[in-house]
Amino acid sequence: TKETFDHIKANDDQVKAFLTLDEEGAMKQARAVDEAGISADQLVAGIPLAVKDNILTKGLRTTAASKMLENFNPVYDATVVEKLKQAGYVNVGKTNLDEFAMGSSTENSAFFTTHNPWDLTRVPGGSSGGSAAAVAAGDVLGALGTDTGGSIRMPASFNGIVGMKPTYGRVSRWGIIAFGSSFDQVGWLTRSVKDNAYLTALIAGNDEHDTTSSLKAVPDWAAQLNDSTSIKGLKIAVPKEYYDGLRADVKEVIKAALDHLESLGATVDEVSLPHTHDGVPAYYILASSEASSNLQRYDGIRYGYRAPEAKNLEEVYVKSRSQGFGDEVKRRIMLGTFSLSAGFYDAYFNKAAKVRRLISDDFTKVFKDYDLIVGATGASTAFKIGAEIDDPKTMYMNDVLTVPVNMAGLPAMSLPAGFSAEDGMPVGLQLIGKPFDEQTIYNTGYVFE
Ligand code: GLN
Repeated sequence: TKETFDHIKANDDQVKAFLTLDEEGAMKQARAVDEAGISADQLVAGIPLAVKDNILTKGLRTTAASKMLENFNPVYDATVVEKLKQAGYVNVGKTNLDEFAMGSSTENSAFFTTHNPWDLTRVPGGSSGGSAAAVAAGDVLGALGTDTGGSIRMPASFNGIVGMKPTYGRVSRWGIIAFGSSFDQVGWLTRSVKDNAYLTALIAGNDEHDTTSSLKAVPDWAAQLNDSTSIKGLKIAVPKEYYDGLRADVKEVIKAALDHLESLGATVDEVSLPHTHDGVPAYYILASSEASSNLQRYDGIRYGYRAPEAKNLEEVYVKSRSQGFGDEVKRRIMLGTFSLSAGFYDAYFNKAAKVRRLISDDFTKVFKDYDLIVGATGASTAFKIGAEIDDPKTMYMNDVLTVPVNMAGLPAMSLPAGFSAEDGMPVGLQLIGKPFDEQTIYNTGYVFE
C-alpha cells in the first residue's frame, strides 16, 4: 500500500486519475490485514484497488465529479464496496469521471480532466477515465467503473487495459449514483482478463437492496478459464456494422485478432445487426430521460450543493441546480425532460423504447446461431484533449459500438488487441456474450494474455 501511494505521488500530478486519495484510511486497512492475518474468505486482503467516484463509500467523499456533490460524505457503502471490504481490500481512493458519468472523455468532470498515461495530450476516454488511467498508469491492478453506454469498455480500449461490463442484473446497483437505471452496471477495469474474472465474481450476486439484481448463481469464472482449446469450435459472429466503419489502423488490429481466433479453431462469420446505428440516438433519449428523473433528487435541500443567496424555495431549486450542475448534465436533463413531456412522449421516449426492443431482437437473432459477437470497442483510438468537447454530437458518436450492448443488457468486455499503426495508441477488441454468459467472454479474452 505504501508503494502504491509512492507510485501515485510520482505520477498522478500528470495523469490526474484521482479526485480523492485516502492514504490514511488505506494504511489503516492495510495495517489491519497485517495485524489480523488473512482469513480464508478475504480474497483480496491487503490489495490496493480504486473506486470510481460515483460509487458510495461511507465516510469518504463521493462527488460524481459534480459541484453538486463536492462535499458529500455518504452515510453508507455501496453493496459492491461492502463486499470488497469484507474481502479485505484496501481502497486507495476515488477516481475521476465525467460529471454523473455523462461523457466519453472525462473532460466533463467539474474538477479537472484526466490524461491518458500513454500520451498525456490525449483523453483517457470516459466516463470511467480516472479508473482506466489509474490502472494503465500502474497505480492499482484494478479499479471499479460503471457502464451505462460504454463507460467501462471505451476507456479500457483507449488505455490498453481490460474492462468488463457484466450482464445487467449481475452486479448490485445499490449505492451507485444513478444515471440511467435500466442501463447502469458496475464492473472492473483491470490489467488482465484473469484479474477481471476473479474480481468480478467478488462483487456479483443478488442483493436484497436492488430488485433488478439477478438470483442466478455466480460462477467461479477465473477458476474455469480454459486454455486456447476452448476456442476450438467457438462460433463467432462479426457484425459488419462493427467492422466496416472503422478507421483503417483500427480495422487492421481487429482483423489480426479475428485471424488469431480463427487460427485457434473458431469459426468467424460476418453477420448484421441492422439497428446498430439507431443505437446512439435512441440511447441518448432513453438514458437522458432516466437521468432527468434520477437527478430530480438534487434539489438543494436534502443534500448536496445549496445556492447561498437563494431567497425563497423556488430560488433554492433553480439557483442550486443552475450553479451545481455542469453544461453536459443540464443538456441531458433538458433533453430527457423534453422527451418525457406529455406532448412529445410518443414521438421521442416511446419511439426510442421501441428502437431499444429492435436492437435487443437483433442480438437475440444472432445468438441463436453464434456463441459470441466480436468487433471493435471504438471506431478510433483516444483523441486529443479538447478535440471534441465543444461538439456533443461527435462526442456521442464515440459510443456507437458500445451503447447497443447496454440497450440489450448484455455482458461485454474490451481487451487490448494491439496498437494503431497510425498514432501508436492502444486498440480495444470488444467481446459481446449472451445474457449471463460472462464465462465465454472471459475464456476467449484469456487467449490474448
Ligand atoms: N458516453 C456515454 C454517455 O455519455 C456513456 C456513459 C456511461 O456509460 N456512463 O452517456
